[in-house]
Amino acid sequence: MTGSDARDYFSTDNSIFSLTPSVIVYPKNESDVRKTTRFVWQLAERGRIIPITARGSGTDLTGASIGSGILVVYPSHLNRVLFLDAKKGEVTVEAGVNFGKLQQLLISYDRFLPAVPQSMEYSTVGGAIANDASGRRSFKYGDMRAYVSGLRVVLANGEVIETKRLSKRELNRKLGLSTFEGEIYRSLDTLLEENKKVVDRSLIKTSKNTAGYDLLDIKQKDGSFDLTPLLVGSQGTLGLITEATLLSEPYSVDTSLVIAYLDNPGDLQSAVIDLNALSEAPCAIEVVDDKLLTNVAKENANYLKDIIAPPYPKFVLICEFDDPNEHKRSKGVKKATKILGKYSQNVYVEDDPEKQKLVWKVRDASALISGHNQGKANPLPLIDDGVVPLDKLADFISAIYDQFSKEHLEVSVWGHAGDANLHIQPYLNLGQVGDRQKAFRLLDEYHSTLKRLGGSTTGRYNEGRLRGAYSSKLFPDDVYQMFNKVKKIFDPYGTLNPGVKINVSLDSVKPLLRSGYSLEHIYDHLPLS
Ligand SMILES: Cc1cc2nc3c(=O)[nH]c(=O)nc-3n(C[C@H](O)[C@H](O)[C@H](O)COP(=O)(O)OP(=O)(O)OC[C@H]3O[C@@H](n4cnc5c(N)ncnc54)[C@H](O)[C@@H]3O)c2cc1C
Repeated sequence: MTGSDARDYFSTDNSIFSLTPSVIVYPKNESDVRKTTRFVWQLAERGRIIPITARGSGTDLTGASIGSGILVVYPSHLNRVLFLDAKKGEVTVEAGVNFGKLQQLLISYDRFLPAVPQSMEYSTVGGAIANDASGRRSFKYGDMRAYVSGLRVVLANGEVIETKRLSKRELNRKLGLSTFEGEIYRSLDTLLEENKKVVDRSLIKTSKNTAGYDLLDIKQKDGSFDLTPLLVGSQGTLGLITEATLLSEPYSVDTSLVIAYLDNPGDLQSAVIDLNALSEAPCAIEVVDDKLLTNVAKENANYLKDIIAPPYPKFVLICEFDDPNEHKRSKGVKKATKILGKYSQNVYVEDDPEKQKLVWKVRDASALISGHNQGKANPLPLIDDGVVPLDKLADFISAIYDQFSKEHLEVSVWGHAGDANLHIQPYLNLGQVGDRQKAFRLLDEYHSTLKRLGGSTTGRYNEGRLRGAYSSKLFPDDVYQMFNKVKKIFDPYGTLNPGVKINVSLDSVKPLLRSGYSLEHIYDHLPLS
């Protein structure tokens, strides 16, 4: 499709950027993805580079699902569940399957995928894998990477590979292949073998990180080898996923919440560190600050009515336990209540599912903020998603408050306190030059703060165009060079989603800034019923 309406529609995702594609392809099957990719490769061999970008539902917040060349749009056709083993909890799907629908299916078999993006009603599983998405319960269960056991991927030259953890013997067979796949295995294995110390240095010591490529989980000490963890989180820069085999967890209906009101960032940090040490792990530890609640009450006076009243506490911390064993769950609840009692006069437990819904409304108030403008200023996904080591959580929050007060901007903070992974969305009007400049000032200072605190620019939403430019500063030089070499092995002509994640410069993204911002792609995917 090359019509200007379609190209215009696909020129945005849920990021602050815009880039118009030349062609939109709706693949009916894997063969169509192969043919398109092969066509791009053949042109590249003749010196003509056309970018190819895989796209799920386009809810990406980093500008990773837009591109100037060919956009391969999955959800219309490649959206089937291919195989489900409910007993083992294993499911094989096409990449364009809707995440929310898959979750409903799994829950009907008493299973669930814990790494659920908040956008799951609108987004695809392929997008979640390519972003290495995670959700509230990833505190206990981990991110998407932990649940992908294998992939089918179309490589840059149109060849299809299947990935899974390979034994030493299986790896040797791959190393002997005379295909592009064989070349990838050989080059990557040599690179990893020759740079073991560099690989170790690629670890960022935070509980979550989606910056860079995952080099640490490819080759294990026993010699086994798996491309899956590398491809998960690679944002379509190493290959186009067509199918995925996913693991799941038993679904527990019964949960308990422990809620605490805390007075300052120091107490929040200490409480979170103590909760992290619990042997009966909570599945989620979430936080919202008073500024978020004040803003929500301003937007909609009824939203928090009968749930929480002003003056709001500095922080509301919500700790969730989901162990299906009631005894273990209540043991966790008791311990968490004791811990939180050290830091707060106001701690309570909620076991009633209806009342729990009201408690979660407090946390989900962030969605209300994300969807409302202040005049012409929009809440922007700009300096969102930073993550720091737990013992730097208080410094992180204080630095954010300082930064916003310096810029005379309102700020609210919320997110995944258990992982020290926070969300912040400044209100800016991208139609105004002053605010556009402010946006990049905020970005620069925010990323310096994260670097200073030993954190990562992204815990869950990944890098895309927005944060890609900061990766070269985030990682040591030799590690970043190694990411470059990995990219080159998979994508020698640079056709796979260029300008995303790797080799991104601020100068290349500044002209892509939109003059207006909206969540239109979210609304397009709202369920019809
Ligand atoms: C309101 C809101 C809340 C969100 N909450 C969360 C959250 O809680 N956690 C979280 O992790 N994210 C969150 N996100 C970000 C995003 O929605 C998720 O990461 C989601 O999983 C992306 O899915 P998608 O289908 O929209 O992918 P897209 O936006 O279409 O694509 C995302 C990336 O994946 C690549 N890609 C897509 N399909 C393929 C494929 N088949 N093969 C190779 N690459 C592919 C794209 O090229 C792009 O780089 C949120 C976004 C919004 C707007």
